[in-house]
Amino acid sequence: MENRFFLPFQEMNDLIEKSNAILIAAHENPDPDAVSSVLALHNYIKSLGKKSIPYLPDAPAKNISYLPGFFEIENEIKSFQPDLLICLDYGDFKRLRLPAEILNCHIITIDHHIESDQRGKIKILGPEFSSTAEIIYQWFKFKNININKELAVCLLTGIIADSGGFRHVSTSHKTLIAVSDLLTKGVSLNKITRQILSSKSSLNVSKAWGEVLSRTKIDINTNLAYSWLEPEDFQRLGVNLADFDGITNIISSSSESNIGLFLMEYEKGKIKGSLRSEPNGGKNVAQIAKALGGGGHLYAAGFSFEGDREEVLKKVIKLV
Ligand code: 5GP
Ligand code: MN
Repeated sequence: MENRFFLPFQEMNDLIEKSNAILIAAHENPDPDAVSSVLALHNYIKSLGKKSIPYLPDAPAKNISYLPGFFEIENEIKSFQPDLLICLDYGDFKRLRLPAEILNCHIITIDHHIESDQRGKIKILGPEFSSTAEIIYQWFKFKNININKELAVCLLTGIIADSGGFRHVSTSHKTLIAVSDLLTKGVSLNKITRQILSSKSSLNVSKAWGEVLSRTKIDINTNLAYSWLEPEDFQRLGVNLADFDGITNIISSSSESNIGLFLMEYEKGKIKGSLRSEPNGGKNVAQIAKALGGGGHLYAAGFSFEGDREEVLKKVIKLV
């Protein structure tokens, strides 16, 4: 297949061909696109008879444990020196939390985050793609790889999750052509969608969402809707950071606001911030996140902050 995307797919093929010990990594607190992308490449590279290690700095959520290769994922790199490192879906290199001593090797990046601190001799950057999984799909097509059911399960999971079930602006007709092709491999769109969404089924998590949503306030000058979690909330409600994936979409979706902020202070002074803006609001939240040391996409971005919750709120309001 021809490469209609002007991405360095051939260079990536050549480098993989020459390599034998490959480490595949994605970002901390991994979302389904990060996990699926790592496993799609891992399963494929293993099938070439090469040594491959799928690495994520934090354990992924259990609701996607149906992904082929899920239980091969390592959260620590033990005495493995790769000759090639493939880094996926991360934006800023520090979010991979890779030990410095293994970095003396070739690096390839595949990412759909806006250009930030991505590394490597070969960088396949496609911010117009719905997901990193969709870029990997295009690489598979370019390479004429027979996409079997296992690879299709991985790719479809990443695309469905990161496109928000085909609702986000990055969902293009090419995304749907890819999905349509993947559905011919015997996977079920309905089943995968239900499995991705099932992470929010436990009652204490639903109650915690209720509490966060009922706290929501709106800054009248900027129409920023915001809510937060305090350190003691995590213990009291029996929840962790990963349980709130997606809540900022709801915080930002009221008719009174067009931008949403969610601040999770998981330890005193340690804050994970999440920003969303509806496309018609037109706010570039990636830029706001970047000003605070984070990054992401035009309408969905995040950052980490050390300091006071009120202070970071003021900073965000000023940036809006
Ligand atoms: P979320 O709000 O769901 O945590 O993240 C939204 C988007 O921003 C995701 O694509 C995520 O990868 C990215 N993102 C979240 N936190 C950070 C961060 O601290 N740095 C960068 N570069 N990107 C982030
Ligand atoms: Mn992604």
